[in-house]
Amino acid sequence: MQPSSDTRPRRTFAVISHPDAGKSTLTEALALHAEMLSEAGAVHGKAGRRGTVSDWMEMERARGISISSAALQFAFRDHVVNLVDTPGHADFSEDTYRVLTAVDSAVMLVDAAKGLEPQTLKLFRVCAQRRIPVLTVVNKWDRPGLEPLALMDEIQQQIGLDPTPLTWPVGLAGDFRGVLDRRSGEFVRYTRTAGGATKAPEERMDPAAAAAREGDAWATAVEEHELLAADGAEHDQELFLAGATTPVLFASALLNFGVGRLLDTLLELAPAPGPTLDAQGSPRQPGDDFSAYVFKVQAGMDAAHRDRLAYARVCSGTFERGMVVRHAATGRPFATKYAQAVFGRERSSVDVAEPGDIIGLVNAAALRVGDTIYDGSPVEYPPIASFPPEHFASVRAADSGRHKQFRRGIEQLDQEGVVQVLRSELRGDQAPVLAAVGPMQFEVVVARMAAEYKCPVRLDHLDYTLARRVPADQAEALAGKRGVEVMRRSDGALLALFPDRWRVSSVQRELPDLRLEELGVDQ
Ligand code: GDP
Repeated sequence: MQPSSDTRPRRTFAVISHPDAGKSTLTEALALHAEMLSEAGAVHGKAGRRGTVSDWMEMERARGISISSAALQFAFRDHVVNLVDTPGHADFSEDTYRVLTAVDSAVMLVDAAKGLEPQTLKLFRVCAQRRIPVLTVVNKWDRPGLEPLALMDEIQQQIGLDPTPLTWPVGLAGDFRGVLDRRSGEFVRYTRTAGGATKAPEERMDPAAAAAREGDAWATAVEEHELLAADGAEHDQELFLAGATTPVLFASALLNFGVGRLLDTLLELAPAPGPTLDAQGSPRQPGDDFSAYVFKVQAGMDAAHRDRLAYARVCSGTFERGMVVRHAATGRPFATKYAQAVFGRERSSVDVAEPGDIIGLVNAAALRVGDTIYDGSPVEYPPIASFPPEHFASVRAADSGRHKQFRRGIEQLDQEGVVQVLRSELRGDQAPVLAAVGPMQFEVVVARMAAEYKCPVRLDHLDYTLARRVPADQAEALAGKRGVEVMRRSDGALLALFPDRWRVSSVQRELPDLRLEELGVDQ
């Protein structure tokens, strides 16, 4: 059967939030409002929701956090929406950073009672760095929370974005009556349904009817709306796309209120997939020949399918399953007959995908995070920057008889980017050093080595807290320096590990010609 291409306009976004702000609840509510098309990867079910699919995800289930990322695809008002999920925990911010290379916009979910939380701020900084426009949703408005104007101040002061609310709450947090639609001036009344299980019915009323019905609550909302207007807090598409402002919506994901409006807003304001800059900085247009880049590689998704999935975002052209594409890093052809969307425990094939869509390539042993695949005219996208590691541990097989499994497992986890793997002659091949942004990454290694590679490992935490890159011809100079160790990362880079910044400075004073480079993206 000839696959038919689906050229409906795309919106590809991620939800960023601190754990517990309601990301899973919002994701489910979005799926309820739209028509689900497909689901790539595991759904981050929590107890009582759709289940996760693999053994090692037991760990995230037990902790109630999301470790891996997945993409959901749904149709809404003649658009196709791709929601790329991000892990919430700070220890996996590097993973989140990679996911954010695959989206065109982000929804920042803020808990009405807690305001901006550390992880929200950190993720927001990543969006700013990547110049991703951000929409803000203040969630849990059905519960007691902060004053809305105070929340706007917090957004402005802590993240430096000017909030431009599109809706404004009527009734205090915890006594939610609905919202004032700031563009039309109408009242969108919220009517409670049992448990929010179905789409919350919304009733629109003109200002006079709203005033008659809601009295003081309406008057306060109008007054605050006018204050905002006087302050110039109005949506401006250019400023939003330039990352200077953030449109704000008030919602309750649990009660399904404001969720349809969020989808409408994404279609109306969020950018469609645009040109992607290649490694030389030239744009590849969505209409050009097919190209995609890999932003995530994951193995062990499902005990029943021991395989390895590479997730790629389509940047240009139309992907058709079965296409033989080229792998830019090796120049080799790559057959895509196993391209799949993974649907919970079951898998369905992806036949076609357009720019902005996410494809999962099965058994893609050659593909690494940051790799480009293309058809027709060649292209290579820039590598995805990694975060500077701050935690280091040496790792060895608990049972020295299992070094083959040990080597295979560590190599796989390295390729997935779960941790960075460093080696030196001194330590030998059987005791490499793992480098991580957050210590929970080590726990993933321990759990997966035991479950997937049947090779329990022992970790010894090392006292280093930072690494610097050293040019190959200068590594010798560091030999024998107390407290400093030079190791080779699997991509060939030489890294010098230091216990603290003071040691870096003292070495630098002793060796003024030494050129040490900071690693990864600024945070
Ligand atoms: P995540 O960690 O960001 O994915 O957060 P969850 O979606 O798991 O939500 C965390 C908790 O907040 C759960 O108990 C949800 O039921 C609750 N929650 C999420 N959204 C809302 C909301 O709009 N109102 C209320 N009252 N609770 C909510």
